[in-house]
Amino acid sequence: MTDCLFCKIVAGEVPADIVAQTEETVAFRDIAPQAPTHVLVVPRAHHEDVGALASAEPALLGRLFAAAADVARIEGLDGGYRLLTNTGRDAGQTVSHVHVHVLGGRPLGALA
Ligand code: 5GP
Ligand code: ZN
Repeated sequence: MTDCLFCKIVAGEVPADIVAQTEETVAFRDIAPQAPTHVLVVPRAHHEDVGALASAEPALLGRLFAAAADVARIEGLDGGYRLLTNTGRDAGQTVSHVHVHVLGGRPLGALA
């Protein structure tokens, strides 16, 4: 996808603070953190949202969440963490390349 921000980060065309990588995933710090740790984990391959990824490559969806759990371990989120994936307009998805938010480092409160 030529005009996708997260494809450009994966390709190294847009700089990002990368915290972990696998052959299939890249994890980088969110530019506007909502918690002391706020990392985005994306597949290198472009899929619009979690539903599209689940349809196209369900096993990769599992590995994406495994990569997110690895980030939580690397970041030392021993007190717990939240994995979040917004899908579509009503959820406020602003980048149409599936991504898992890894949030932690303080009590996160109840889900709104
Ligand atoms: P969404 O709102 O789609 O669930 O999440 C998109 C996230 O991408 C937001 O939390 C936003 O702060 C983050 N973001 C937007 N532009 C950039 C950028 O250029 N670099 C990084 N690292 N994060 C970004
Ligand atoms: Zn993309």
